[in-house]
Amino acid sequence: MAAPSFESTYAALPERFHARIAPTPVAAPRLLRLNSALAESLGLDPGWLASPEGVALLAGNSIPESVRPVAMAYAGHQFGNFTPQLGDGRAILLGERRDRAGRLFDVQLKGAGPTPFSRQGDGRAAIGPVLREYVVSEAMAALGIPTTRALAAVASGEPVYRETPLPGAILTRVARSHLRVGTFEFFASRGDDEALRMLVDYAIERLHPDAAGAERPALALFEAVMGAHATLVPQWLGVGFVHGVMNTDNTSISGETIDYGPCAFLDAYHPGQTFSSIDHAGRYAYGRQPGIAAWNLARFAETLLPLLGETQEAQIAAAQAVLDRFEPRFQESWRDVLRRKLGLARIDDAGLTLASDLLDAMAEQRADFTQTFRALVECVEAGEGDAPGRDPREIGAAVGFSEPEAFASWIARWRARLREEEQRPEDVRASLRAVNPARIPRNHRIEEAIVAAREDDLRPFERLVEGLARPFDDDPRFEDLARAPEPHEVVRQTFCGT
Ligand code: AMP
Ligand code: MG
Repeated sequence: MAAPSFESTYAALPERFHARIAPTPVAAPRLLRLNSALAESLGLDPGWLASPEGVALLAGNSIPESVRPVAMAYAGHQFGNFTPQLGDGRAILLGERRDRAGRLFDVQLKGAGPTPFSRQGDGRAAIGPVLREYVVSEAMAALGIPTTRALAAVASGEPVYRETPLPGAILTRVARSHLRVGTFEFFASRGDDEALRMLVDYAIERLHPDAAGAERPALALFEAVMGAHATLVPQWLGVGFVHGVMNTDNTSISGETIDYGPCAFLDAYHPGQTFSSIDHAGRYAYGRQPGIAAWNLARFAETLLPLLGETQEAQIAAAQAVLDRFEPRFQESWRDVLRRKLGLARIDDAGLTLASDLLDAMAEQRADFTQTFRALVECVEAGEGDAPGRDPREIGAAVGFSEPEAFASWIARWRARLREEEQRPEDVRASLRAVNPARIPRNHRIEEAIVAAREDDLRPFERLVEGLARPFDDDPRFEDLARAPEPHEVVRQTFCGT
């Protein structure tokens, strides 16, 4: 069988959009994991990808003649400070593949060797961050949240040198596109309006085609990207996800979650929670994510200004009008997430109060985020013919409430609301089960899988991937993955994945 072909729509853009660079071969590639279902959705043969030729491609050791590999240029605001040139320092875009619906997807090798954007970096990735991104991005996809995907993880057979030597690996990442707010900032900061126009056209054609017909396509693009993030962030909040490094170079134009560096999921709920070792000020804390998304979108708007109107005044007014819609769009979407998490038929002030009272109690008592919401399934009042359920106090204690009585009295209010809505208990249970996952990628389980993988034991990693593929099913085989960490297992800090 022949090597697959790739389209090169991004590589076909002018030279200043990228650097042509081939991956640097590695010593001894070995397949760690292949995502066969994802491969098939892109028309790639999993059998071939798992063959020695396939693994050589996934390692960057053998690139077909027809491929035009590039590292993408971009800039970005990191923790609020602008860097005019970042770019793919260790990722190389092989090109694009189409899914069955004809949509283009980038296929990128991350950790494939140095590029002209590497600065002091080695262009490589350690096995830990690679497996972490594999687990978390695939878990996000299974949770139904827009995200880049993991097609494969390959061991390089070479060490990478961080604080200590670590086994190296390469992740094959798939995305609707790797265009970021930082890509636009790269050209805007250089005053390159021509490139900006091309980038707008490219982004519209690929990601937001409806904007093409608008009176001002760039404004319609901005509106579409704003809308995508106004619905993305509520989905993060709904599963307790903390991105950890919401810089503009990690803010995707497609509205996908991208860059799984120091990300983490809440165990105990607290809106001020951060994990990243470098986020000293809590800029990217759980509860700050909506505000940061708006801030990043404002940076995006600034890059588009020349295309938004004839006068500066008109440009700013047009951008501001769209930005002003972020907050209401976010609120609408977040309210709907809360409605579904509580199994309510509608959301009104009383429903919102119910939601915020629960969250406040969880924060105060450090209840487990995922387990508390999942436990609601069990707390729905027994219907006719149902066996009586466990005492809510017992359930509250099990999910981490230090005062289970507080949880039980909240449950009484919630049940009254459900009675008022005249929903059938079995319907409420089914909808709660479909929204509140039993399992999320717990930080301590990821750590455990990484530690084992460094010693060549991939079983915990494989089990994690498998156990998170159907996160809404009760599955006794994976009961351990649903459990909250014991106090000594709690992960308090995560690190940028380099
Ligand atoms: P990130 O923190 O992953 O968003 O990366 C920020 C910038 O650092 C990007 O330009 C990356 O390509 C670059 N970078 C991160 N790690 C490495 C590495 N090991 N070698 C070269 N560049 C890197
Ligand atoms: Mg990044």
